[in-house]
Amino acid sequence: MTNYLDLAEIALRIIEKSMSKPKKRKDFSKSEKARIKKIQKNRCNTCGKKSAVLEIDHIDGDSLNNSLDNAQALCPTCHAIKTRKVKQRKLKLSQAFRYLKGLFKE
Ligand SMILES: [Zn+2]
Repeated sequence: MTNYLDLAEIALRIIEKSMSKPKKRKDFSKSEKARIKKIQKNRCNTCGKKSAVLEIDHIDGDSLNNSLDNAQALCPTCHAIKTRKVKQRKLKLSQAFRYLKGLFKE
Protein backbone atom coordinates (compact mmCIF):
# COMPACT_ATOMS: atom_id res chain seq x y z
CA MET A 1 0.00 0.00 0.00
CA THR A 2 1.20 3.49 -0.81
CA ASN A 3 2.39 5.50 2.11
CA TYR A 4 0.37 8.69 1.75
CA LEU A 5 2.24 10.42 4.53
CA ASP A 6 5.49 9.98 2.59
CA LEU A 7 3.82 11.26 -0.59
CA ALA A 8 2.46 14.35 1.15
CA GLU A 9 5.90 14.94 2.69
CA ILE A 10 7.64 14.70 -0.71
CA ALA A 11 5.10 16.97 -2.39
CA LEU A 12 5.45 19.51 0.39
CA ARG A 13 9.24 19.49 0.08
CA ILE A 14 9.07 20.03 -3.71
CA ILE A 15 6.66 22.96 -3.36
CA GLU A 16 8.60 24.59 -0.55
CA LYS A 17 11.82 24.21 -2.52
CA SER A 18 10.21 25.92 -5.51
CA MET A 19 9.07 28.75 -3.24
CA SER A 20 12.53 29.53 -1.95
CA LYS A 21 14.94 31.45 -4.12
CA PRO A 22 17.12 29.08 -6.11
CA LYS A 23 20.82 29.45 -5.42
CA LYS A 24 22.05 28.97 -8.94
CA ARG A 25 19.62 31.23 -10.69
CA LYS A 26 20.80 31.79 -14.22
CA ASP A 27 19.21 34.71 -15.95
CA PHE A 28 18.42 34.91 -19.64
CA SER A 29 21.31 36.36 -21.62
CA LYS A 30 21.13 39.85 -23.09
CA SER A 31 20.73 38.50 -26.62
CA GLU A 32 18.01 36.07 -25.51
CA LYS A 33 16.11 38.90 -23.84
CA ALA A 34 16.45 41.07 -26.94
CA ARG A 35 15.24 38.21 -29.12
CA ILE A 36 12.16 37.58 -26.99
CA LYS A 37 11.27 41.28 -27.00
CA LYS A 38 11.76 41.44 -30.77
CA ILE A 39 9.50 38.41 -31.34
CA GLN A 40 6.80 40.11 -29.26
CA LYS A 41 7.43 43.41 -31.08
CA ASN A 42 8.22 45.10 -27.72
CA ARG A 43 4.74 44.38 -26.46
CA CYS A 44 3.72 42.85 -23.16
CA ASN A 45 2.57 39.26 -23.72
CA THR A 46 -0.36 39.70 -21.33
CA CYS A 47 -1.88 43.14 -21.89
CA GLY A 48 -0.40 43.70 -25.36
CA LYS A 49 0.76 47.22 -24.56
CA LYS A 50 4.01 48.56 -25.95
CA SER A 51 6.42 49.24 -23.14
CA ALA A 52 9.93 50.68 -22.99
CA VAL A 53 10.54 48.48 -19.97
CA LEU A 54 9.80 44.81 -20.47
CA GLU A 55 10.78 42.11 -18.01
CA ILE A 56 11.45 38.53 -19.02
CA ASP A 57 9.19 36.11 -17.21
CA HIS A 58 9.46 32.34 -16.80
CA ILE A 59 6.09 31.14 -18.09
CA ASP A 60 5.98 28.00 -15.91
CA GLY A 61 7.25 29.90 -12.85
CA ASP A 62 10.41 27.76 -12.71
CA SER A 63 13.31 30.21 -12.71
CA LEU A 64 15.74 27.39 -13.49
CA ASN A 65 13.98 26.50 -16.72
CA ASN A 66 15.65 28.98 -19.07
CA SER A 67 14.51 27.50 -22.35
CA LEU A 68 13.22 30.10 -24.78
CA ASP A 69 9.85 28.31 -24.92
CA ASN A 70 9.52 29.17 -21.25
CA ALA A 71 10.19 32.88 -21.67
CA GLN A 72 7.88 35.79 -22.29
CA ALA A 73 8.28 39.55 -22.03
CA LEU A 74 5.86 41.28 -19.67
CA CYS A 75 5.40 44.89 -18.63
CA PRO A 76 6.31 45.46 -14.94
CA THR A 77 2.63 45.61 -13.92
CA CYS A 78 1.62 42.31 -15.55
CA HIS A 79 4.83 40.66 -14.31
CA ALA A 80 4.13 41.67 -10.72
CA ILE A 81 0.52 40.44 -10.92
CA LYS A 82 1.58 37.11 -12.43
CA THR A 83 4.36 36.54 -9.91
CA ARG A 84 1.96 37.24 -7.07
CA LYS A 85 -0.60 34.77 -8.46
CA VAL A 86 2.03 32.02 -8.82
CA LYS A 87 3.21 32.63 -5.24
CA GLN A 88 -0.35 32.46 -3.92
CA ARG A 89 -0.98 29.21 -5.79
CA LYS A 90 2.16 27.63 -4.34
CA LEU A 91 1.21 28.81 -0.88
CA LYS A 92 -2.25 27.24 -1.19
CA LEU A 93 -0.69 24.00 -2.42
CA SER A 94 1.75 23.87 0.45
CA GLN A 95 -1.09 24.48 2.91
CA ALA A 96 -3.09 21.65 1.31
CA PHE A 97 -0.21 19.21 1.60
CA ARG A 98 0.52 20.26 5.16
CA TYR A 99 -3.15 19.52 5.91
CA LEU A 100 -2.88 16.13 4.18
CA LYS A 101 0.21 15.30 6.18
CA GLY A 102 -1.72 16.02 9.35
CA LEU A 103 -4.55 13.69 8.22
CA PHE A 104 -2.29 10.72 7.61
CA LYS A 105 -0.28 11.18 10.77
CA GLU A 106 -1.65 9.17 13.63
ZN1 LIG B 1 1.26 44.10 -19.43
